[in-house]
Amino acid sequence: MTNLAQTPLSDRLRSLVDTVQHNERTLRRFQNVELRLIGAQDFASFLDTLFSHLPQEFSLASVTLWLDDRAPMLLELLEPGAMRALDQSGLKTSREGGLAAQGLCDEGRPWLGRPAQLDDAVCRAFFGDSATQDRATPASAILLPLAAGDTVSGYLCLGSDDPERFGEGMATDILERFASIVTASLDNVAHRERLKQLGMTDSLTGLANRRYFDERLREEIMRAARYGVPVACLFIDIDSFKRINDTYGHQTGDRALAAVAACVRQQVRLGDTVARYGGEEFAALLQGDRADALTVAERVRLAVERLALQDDHGERIALTVSIGVAARTISGAPAEAITYGRAMMEEADRAMYQAKRNGRNRIEALVKAGD
Ligand code: GH3
Ligand code: MG
Ligand code: MG
Repeated sequence: MTNLAQTPLSDRLRSLVDTVQHNERTLRRFQNVELRLIGAQDFASFLDTLFSHLPQEFSLASVTLWLDDRAPMLLELLEPGAMRALDQSGLKTSREGGLAAQGLCDEGRPWLGRPAQLDDAVCRAFFGDSATQDRATPASAILLPLAAGDTVSGYLCLGSDDPERFGEGMATDILERFASIVTASLDNVAHRERLKQLGMTDSLTGLANRRYFDERLREEIMRAARYGVPVACLFIDIDSFKRINDTYGHQTGDRALAAVAACVRQQVRLGDTVARYGGEEFAALLQGDRADALTVAERVRLAVERLALQDDHGERIALTVSIGVAARTISGAPAEAITYGRAMMEEADRAMYQAKRNGRNRIEALVKAGD
């Protein structure tokens, strides 16, 4: 290893630039994996990204995920019926695995090192395959806690054939950041799976349905009242959709609906709720005030307008939406959160009709006294 202080400045600079460029490339590759994780529609594709995509992208010998099946949302995700359909070779839930990982990750810090040097029982709990015993123990590994606040929902273990790849003293900030994205995505995917189980998802678009939306609306109104924060909603209706069906057929119409749904979903935050509210109508519930909602609405409008959907002959199908916006800052506890939420949705719906009247492919919010 060269001593940086003794090398000429130009060499040191080059070495620094090399490091920065290398880090940048690594970050970009992580971002690709992260986008797939965040966008995972179900647990199967979440696991596929972790177990197939991640090792390929980073030349890892193994990826193991230990999940705590006592964590509220994960419990149902990991129930035997749901697990049967999954490739679960890298997925572990044993109590011993969790205890071993907990022991290694001192105060929630990642552990790095050579698994072969670990206690045999600890090593087996994480790397061994009790059924076949044919899984090789990686030469070096990093164990990352998946934690939100004080709650650890699992551990992610990345293994390498290179004994020097993961070792004490190595910078772990990029991997720790990755672990926090894995945690958030896991939450998100557990949430999605739960909605499916409860029959609250629309099968064509994968979005929540109206029943779920109304439920969330009530909760959000109460939350907004409790914390004195604003809440907003968008009512989104595809323009002249009947013509799309008439021109291209119902099947292409369905494809257009799914494309618009995915597009809307991408423009809002992970924690915001988007639902298919009716046939070609969507509703979004946002944390923010009217100005925030107008910004998001404009983003949605532009993104839909730019959608490059094609018909069966490769011809571009032009799609636009009209959006109505309404927002509330609630003072005091609303007597009837449901009624209150409904009034806000009705206002957004009326604003949407205003947008239709004013020429479509636009956004409106009603101007009220006191605004
Ligand atoms: P406007 O700009 O005023 O909203 O015009 P529009 O044609 O979109 O409005 P209208 O409400 O008259 O028509 C909505 C159409 O959406 C009619 C219905 O056939 C179609 N639609 C509703 N649900 C579905 C669906 O699941 N799949 C398909 N392909 N079409 C649907
Ligand atoms: Mg409509
Ligand atoms: Mg319409």
